[in-house]
Amino acid sequence: MFKTLARLAAAEFTVSTNGEGGLTLLRGGRVLDAHQRFDDVADVLISADGCVIGPSAVPSHARVVDVRDRWVLPGLIDLQVHFREPGQTHKEDLLSGSRAAFAGGITTVVVMPNTTPALDDPELVRGQNEKTARHGGVRILVAAAATKAIAGLELSDHRALKAAGAISLTDDGMPVQDDDVMAQVLASCARHGLLFMQHAEDLRQTRVDGQHAPMNASLTQQLAGVRGQPSGAESHMVARDLLLAEETGARYHVLHCSTQASLELVRAAKMRGVRVTCEAAPHHLLLSDVDVVKASVIAAGRPPSSPDDLDPNKKMNPPLRHLSDRLALAAGLADGTIDAVATDHAPHAAHEKARGFVDGPFGVIGLETAFAALLTFVDGGTITPLRAVELMTSGPARVLGLSGRLGTFAGDSGDVVVVDPRRDWNVTPGALLSRSKNSAFLGMRFRGRVEQTYARGLCVYQRFN
Ligand SMILES: [Zn+2]
Repeated sequence: MFKTLARLAAAEFTVSTNGEGGLTLLRGGRVLDAHQRFDDVADVLISADGCVIGPSAVPSHARVVDVRDRWVLPGLIDLQVHFREPGQTHKEDLLSGSRAAFAGGITTVVVMPNTTPALDDPELVRGQNEKTARHGGVRILVAAAATKAIAGLELSDHRALKAAGAISLTDDGMPVQDDDVMAQVLASCARHGLLFMQHAEDLRQTRVDGQHAPMNASLTQQLAGVRGQPSGAESHMVARDLLLAEETGARYHVLHCSTQASLELVRAAKMRGVRVTCEAAPHHLLLSDVDVVKASVIAAGRPPSSPDDLDPNKKMNPPLRHLSDRLALAAGLADGTIDAVATDHAPHAAHEKARGFVDGPFGVIGLETAFAALLTFVDGGTITPLRAVELMTSGPARVLGLSGRLGTFAGDSGDVVVVDPRRDWNVTPGALLSRSKNSAFLGMRFRGRVEQTYARGLCVYQRFN
């Protein structure tokens, strides 16, 4: 399937011409392939048929690129992305989302089904892939809706969705609340060999009087006078689901795991053999609930006293948690409990976020900052470079059951990223290609930046400054 896309990719995205025959040699970089446990200086030959580390012979017509002092990685994989198509393309669409992904070194994404309409229909699942294939964008894997219209009541046709190419099922954003429906969903996932991905949130704890609490239950929340989400809203649902996953034998994945309690449940379940995996988002790893306060309020040295003192670009669901949760997640990166880092890239237009912290929508973008954010933990000594690479390549590939095919040079994807690990840069709206600019990291400085991205053997992104 992937090889046929290479021919189509040329139209929309290719930014530099490969050598004759579509060959590029990256010369002298530090090659990191976590799947093959490879970390050494080597040349990499890229073609539409895949990559070769340390090729014994290089055709004379290959384009040669000097990448000394750079890292050369397999294309990154993001397990949780919202491209807003169909229905809300003023925020993002498959093409603007692809550009942002490539700029972040991400060549494969899993799109969530909470579009308008929801991806509960096999035709919609096929449409996602076909449209992107025509334009040569990022490789899209579809997480289809587990229940009809993600209403949590009636199961969608799991067999037909799998036949249409769905890689997993989820009702992300609208967790399956009913215990019996959830048991049916997981039993069906086990029957059809489908992964289930859960946005774990007990809505009975987070929606009070019809209002969805906009941030974590905390002192900051109390001072600002807004409602708070207790962290148990996440871990209680994870606990229920793990019991059901154990009973049914289904593969169960916790999307954007954000609390210490959830992570400890996952760790214990893994130890007793439950087929569970989890991911963490960069914003939950780097920020906590005090960071929700606007920088200007902190600079003035006063505590928040109204919702206006809170930054709408720090509002997402699950919310930024306590510092102790953040530190627990960092420990989970290091000890292997966390299988992948995924962005939950959730674009919203400026006028929507301008409705304020309480009334504006949940969600932040993340494709272009994810790997740089993860490198913070390499610089701090928490994880090795190879582990950072694993968390966005072979880790997510394993979650999806695609080990050895994606996220490694051993596969035939032809997806490659070149990163300058020492390049400092400021996260500003102008630095981001996503149609929406609602990053939680605006104003921050990161070290490490994607320089080139290759998809299906073709250069689809190149930084020139
Ligand atoms: Zn979610």
